[in-house]
Amino acid sequence: MTATPLVELTGVSKYYGNIRALEGVSLEVRAGEITCVLGDNGAGKSTLIKIVAGLHRHDAGTFRVEGEEVVLANPRDALDRGIATVYQDLAVVPLMPVWRNFFLGSEPTKGRGPLRRLDAERMRTTTREALLRMGIDLRDVDQPIGTLSGGERQCVAIARAVHFGAKVLVLDEPTAALGVKQSGVVLKYVAAARDQGLGVVLITHNPHHAYLVGDRFVLLKRGTMAASHTKGSVTLDELTRQMAGGSELDDLRHELERPAGP
Ligand code: ADP
Repeated sequence: MTATPLVELTGVSKYYGNIRALEGVSLEVRAGEITCVLGDNGAGKSTLIKIVAGLHRHDAGTFRVEGEEVVLANPRDALDRGIATVYQDLAVVPLMPVWRNFFLGSEPTKGRGPLRRLDAERMRTTTREALLRMGIDLRDVDQPIGTLSGGERQCVAIARAVHFGAKVLVLDEPTAALGVKQSGVVLKYVAAARDQGLGVVLITHNPHHAYLVGDRFVLLKRGTMAASHTKGSVTLDELTRQMAGGSELDDLRHELERPAGP
């Protein structure tokens, strides 16, 4: 494919004082594809998200959005360029209905002047339709969002980003706190967002989840890019082994081996 990537990082670095959080990281995100960023704690995943989401500025390298080099000023700037980020600790108001949360901050109104009020019916209907379009069949959009499971809440957040016109969807470990079944459901909607033509960045430390849906894989280790693959060029076993630190595990095994008893 030769189309311009939606997002392209080339040799991106970020330092906090003299701590190297990221160094020389490159990745691309294309429409209709899922780019997985894998890494253990401290690998630099959050730092990478913060750069792409406009929270932090990179110190070196280039960040291109649809071919144009950018330095994002703030998260609003990222959103205006079509980059939506769904964080693990979803910012929702638990006691408010699903539809209120869906429109939080972008509520449509009706009437004018002193008669202006929220258009609740429109929000309800639109939320229901937007969820259904993604194949999400919620029993009742009037229920408080706090009563949904963690997986369902992730799905609502994904549908919301799609509805509000995101081109790039960044997901911060959407399956980290979920069991196997719920993880599967969330991954299904991640794939649904891809099928709607979005470019998806899936941050995860689970190579199995990544391999199920990913087209590209970038493995971070202590802030550097330890590996970069496309789907056809790596097996799940290799990816898992690289993620687990294959040779490091062998060393550890030797260290932990008990000396033969007397
Ligand atoms: P991950 O999300 O993969 O766990 P992070 O991006 O949070 O990794 O962290 C990468 C490295 O940068 C770590 O060594 C971390 O301690 C450091 N780091 C992250 N944020 C800051 C910060 N605000 N100030 C100083 N060091 C930081």
